Amino acid sequence: MGDRFQVIVDLDASEADAERLARRVVDRLVAEGIVLAERTGCVPGQPLGHPPGPHWERAVSDDWDFKPWDGLAVHTRRTGFTSGANMPGAALCPHCGAHTPLQDAQWRRFSTAMRTWHDTGAASVGCPACARAVPVPDWTWDEAPLAFGALGFEFWNWPDLGDDFRARLAGLLDGHRTAYVWGKI
Ligand SMILES: [Zn+2]
Repeated sequence: MGDRFQVIVDLDASEADAERLARRVVDRLVAEGIVLAERTGCVPGQPLGHPPGPHWERAVSDDWDFKPWDGLAVHTRRTGFTSGANMPGAALCPHCGAHTPLQDAQWRRFSTAMRTWHDTGAASVGCPACARAVPVPDWTWDEAPLAFGALGFEFWNWPDLGDDFRARLAGLLDGHRTAYVWGKI
């Protein structure tokens, strides 16, 4: 069965913004009863998370078929969010749309830039097709999405989050772009 996660990632928040925005979102989710304010050991791979609240169903799509059995982990450090063990097969340029297969030398270029982004908060990869320098968080990816950000809301073992809920949460983030990544471990 494994553990399933869904993450809403803020692609534009700096590490300096992350704590403030995280508090705003958690305060709202607690006020709506979606999660509890207290933190417990309810999320895999993280020390503490917010357990589901009495109105958790406000966050999920109407056709949910199980109750969440874990909680919300809030990430406020630069993180490369993945959808599990698999890496994407190609990177898609936001300017020209070209697919760059992530093999061998190309994968090394991208993974080096990802590490630099993680260490410093800024790194670009030149698109082999149009030659533009594209910041790591601006690339999109084929079948196994990645998202790079300093703020992420990671729901563990919840039914599918509703589209309206995801939009409402994104609306609390100062107009930032967001990405939605889900997967299983
Ligand atoms: Zn390009």
